[in-house]
Amino acid sequence: MFNYKENKKYILSYLILAFFIVVGIIAFYIFNPQKNLLTNNLDNMNINNENYIKNKDEKNNPNNTETISASKNISGDNSVVQKIPSEKTSKNYIDFSGWNSSCNPALVVINKDNPIPTNYNSKIIDYKDVKINSIIKNDLDNMINDAAKLGLKIYPSSGYRSVERQTMLFNKQVSKCKKQGYKSETAESVAATVVARPRTSEHHTGLAIDFNEIRDDFYKTKEYNWLIKNAAEYGFILRYPKDKIDTTNVIYEPWHFRYIGKELAKEIIRTGLCYEEYIESIMKK
Ligand SMILES: [Zn+2]
Repeated sequence: MFNYKENKKYILSYLILAFFIVVGIIAFYIFNPQKNLLTNNLDNMNINNENYIKNKDEKNNPNNTETISASKNISGDNSVVQKIPSEKTSKNYIDFSGWNSSCNPALVVINKDNPIPTNYNSKIIDYKDVKINSIIKNDLDNMINDAAKLGLKIYPSSGYRSVERQTMLFNKQVSKCKKQGYKSETAESVAATVVARPRTSEHHTGLAIDFNEIRDDFYKTKEYNWLIKNAAEYGFILRYPKDKIDTTNVIYEPWHFRYIGKELAKEIIRTGLCYEEYIESIMKK
């Protein structure tokens, strides 16, 4: 029979132990040095998940084709929206504005320091559960179908993301930071380490695709290994490789691929450069 008095000290010990475990978990979450690195990820998983849900909702939208101009999207009424990122804080800052103003739209370079050009136009279409740039449809289709013939299930879980949506997500994060006690002037900078500032996500072009479950361990899958070996044949490259973090300023994202066309994709694989490095080498010529 259970004797409360006899077991009291054991129960108390367990309670104390449970308390320290909970405190430990909370402390680990707060002080984890990996956290900043992970949250610096431009493709912040919350965005992708939210976007994924949104894209599912958008399936019912009768307008399945829309032409998006980046410029029209930045004219919001929120002051946060209108501030175009201007910090040149990346370790290897490279100015691609000259390149972006005259290159083929499929070859635009977008990152933290190089926002999408205001006059960037793309035809965005529905594709499976996401939206994509119409120019990638055939190659994406062929890639997914050829992989399927080998029994591999590759599917897009995030594609085009509007500047408006990124703005909404960013402003939401700014408000969250303010609630946490950050002053207005620093709240934006802190928010930018978690959610990419509007106009600085490659997903605005519809040329970037996040495949499958958007997981850090996607690199362990057969699907990833097939993509690494074959994606260039269809015009896609792994955009944020593990050994190029210092240049891309984005953590290794095994799920994020970028369309740049077959010829260039194969050339980049041959050189072993990442996208920023390759375009920089072309600009120097
Ligand atoms: Zn992505």
